[in-house]
Amino acid sequence: MANASALGMLLEARGLTKRFPGVVANDEVSLALAAGEVLALLGENGAGKSTLVKMLFGLYEPDEGEICLNGKNVRMRSPRDAISRGVGMVHQHFQLVGNLTVAQNVVLGAEPMRRRLLDRGAARRSVAELSARYQLALDPDALVEDLPVGAQQRVEIVKALYRGARILILDEPTAVLTPQETDELLLVMRQLAQQGTGIIFITHKLREVLAVADRIVVLRGGRVAGTVLPRDTNEAQLAELMVGRSVVLTVEKDLAIPGATVLELRGVAVKDDRGVEALRGVDLVVRSGELVGVAGVEGNGQRELVEAVCGMRPLSAGQLSIGGSDAAALGPRAVHELGVGHIPENREKDGLVGAYSVADNLVLNRAYVAPFARRGIRDRAAVSAEAARLVREYDVRTPGINTTVASLSGGNKQKVVVARELSQGGSLLVVAQPTRGVDVGSIEFIHRQLIAARDRGTAVLLVSAELDEVLALADRVVVLFRGEIVAELPSAEATRERIGLLMAGSQ
Ligand code: ADP
Ligand code: MG
Repeated sequence: MANASALGMLLEARGLTKRFPGVVANDEVSLALAAGEVLALLGENGAGKSTLVKMLFGLYEPDEGEICLNGKNVRMRSPRDAISRGVGMVHQHFQLVGNLTVAQNVVLGAEPMRRRLLDRGAARRSVAELSARYQLALDPDALVEDLPVGAQQRVEIVKALYRGARILILDEPTAVLTPQETDELLLVMRQLAQQGTGIIFITHKLREVLAVADRIVVLRGGRVAGTVLPRDTNEAQLAELMVGRSVVLTVEKDLAIPGATVLELRGVAVKDDRGVEALRGVDLVVRSGELVGVAGVEGNGQRELVEAVCGMRPLSAGQLSIGGSDAAALGPRAVHELGVGHIPENREKDGLVGAYSVADNLVLNRAYVAPFARRGIRDRAAVSAEAARLVREYDVRTPGINTTVASLSGGNKQKVVVARELSQGGSLLVVAQPTRGVDVGSIEFIHRQLIAARDRGTAVLLVSAELDEVLALADRVVVLFRGEIVAELPSAEATRERIGLLMAGSQ
């Protein structure tokens, strides 16, 4: 290649290889990033995306290959090295201090000083200037712990910019964001690129890549599977590059054959954590063999609806019945015993115990009953046999059933929850955000499992912030707006435009 800096190349990596015991995480990966470019790194879980950017950020040293910044060969031994050379990174788990303000977090470790004291005014001005320049809405005086996730992420971005980042690496930033926050972030990325920052944006969401990237590098199995331009590609091709086989992005399903009513809510009202009414006058029926999708902008009562049905939140008014039994006053275990499976929104908190093994997590809510326990004594052999069967059937990629769940990828953690909840053959399945942070291959699998459950006669209630997911899976769509069901449509009438308008509160 000709003189890289003359071409405006901020970064060039050549033949980067990184091995871990038993795995080549990156195998001769080459990559270039120009100033003002948004480069999307796309790949399934385990493809090597994080490893690659960790080398670019000085967290790992490559076993082979070289990294050039502004045309100069560099060796970065630490993030401090990388930062001093203009590389910034926003990690998925933020590294912020909750009880400090936005301004304090931004300057932390690089404080502007005056007479050996932190110059608060200068810190606040820097934050205000950076957020104005890049349209990153932030209040310098807000406490970080009071901010929503999307705003905390903006703090991380400003923090990197404050340290002079000309290259900004974002590792799966949208995995933790709502659709609205995601759209805001994509705009911010364009804004930053327009002013010359080079961005490496990691995701496994095809739509995001096509919306924001100038160029797309697809990694598979630690190698570059392809480099494409958004205008020359489409979701189907990208998915195929990612997983190495063609992926069915649309969900194939037959018409539902609904049977008896399984879940029925009449006039249900529920309060949220602050005691404010989050659901009001909700009437909802889900019958055996149908999948009802709940659409809505997050925070319109979806979470409370799921928790109310699953016995995790009391009703303040109305009736709730499951399989003909009054379930209004039951707790989670009693609801589970009525044959209700629950795939919770927050799998790390409500769905799994990270420190437990895959096997223990697969029997989590039935570890105390036969055949997994007899007279209070654990039957390890029975647990192992069931776990091995589920790992096979649900294609959980794990070194073994005794591996801790915490060490699995997001997609595989979710498969553990799905396997556990679906394998019990209950009459009702309550599913919240089932594919958030999950890779394409796993999404396809999970979607098929949900439809298969429906086809076996399970009543399925699906809540998802991904409108496309609701539209793809649901036989009937209800729209929640400010705690009320404002519309109910058969899937044939539920177009993206129509539902989108209803979600925004217009008819
Ligand atoms: P991605 O970010 O695309 O999901 P990673 O770069 O995290 O992928 O992982 C690539 C491969 O390297 C995976 O097989 C993963 O298990 C392995 N790996 C990543 N980091 C380590 C590590 N610190 N030690 C051992 N193996 C690792
Ligand atoms: Mg990663």
